[in-house]
Amino acid sequence: MTRPHPLLLAHGGAGRRPITRRQSSCLADALATGYAILEQGGPAVVAVEVTIGFLEQSGLFNAGRGAKRQLDGVQRMDASLMEGAGLRAGAVASLEGFVHPITAARLVMEETTHVLLAGPLAGRFAQHFGLERHRPPGRRRQLGYDRILAGKGSVKDRHGTVGAVALDRARTVAAGASTGGIEVMVPGRVGDTPLIGCGVYADNRCGAVSMTGQGEGIIRLAVAKAICERLAAGKSPSTAARMVLRELVSRIAGAAGTLVVAPDGRFTIAHVTPHMAAGWWDGSARPTVKGCWT
Ligand code: ASP
Repeated sequence: MTRPHPLLLAHGGAGRRPITRRQSSCLADALATGYAILEQGGPAVVAVEVTIGFLEQSGLFNAGRGAKRQLDGVQRMDASLMEGAGLRAGAVASLEGFVHPITAARLVMEETTHVLLAGPLAGRFAQHFGLERHRPPGRRRQLGYDRILAGKGSVKDRHGTVGAVALDRARTVAAGASTGGIEVMVPGRVGDTPLIGCGVYADNRCGAVSMTGQGEGIIRLAVAKAICERLAAGKSPSTAARMVLRELVSRIAGAAGTLVVAPDGRFTIAHVTPHMAAGWWDGSARPTVKGCWT
């Protein structure tokens, strides 16, 4: 599909569960909120942060207020953000106790010379900038590794990782993602979301990608960068996404979904999971949000 820019795409995770009505209207509201930035001539990276921040705040997705817990009962969240003009990027991994990991990622990008901060010291960094705290109800559990590795005590829910890609009036692209991880996680597990080139990538020479799905597979094929490389080789967003997702399934039985936007405004939403909660908006009519894009 080709659209005049600006353009914003957002997702609420890919997996086996269908999107709920509340999640669907929250995604539409997040698109409208983020799009207002683009409409006023604001940068794609800000639109991505604002869109993801809206979803983190809602508590309806596996990010921010709604993040899943690891097997010791603790929420450890991952997020990243990248913009395609200067290839600037920021990320946090295993962040505990904040509503907006995506803003912590933006601060890493803007306020440090680094790309990724992890663990309690990423929390200290977020605290320094006064980011909003979040103390979820429930307790830390003291589990031995025999129980942890047997996967005991996992918490099941319907929430999904969140992410967004945008193209602004200056034809700069940006991508971001934020997550509480997957269903069953050994404490300390980090997925693809904070890893640049795996969960997200953005480069004005080819496009922007935000991933969701089983992080371990996405990491092993560096999927976001692999899709960008195919865009750079002249493939359309839908062909590039299909080629890489097919390889993910055939080579390592992975499962994922993706948002892809090219600098000329072509875009795709693709997944190899039964469902993917996602939508897009170019400012005309109303945001389009669906639970399945195949
Ligand atoms: N990719 C995320 C992770 O592996 C999870 C997801 O997107 O649902 O942490």
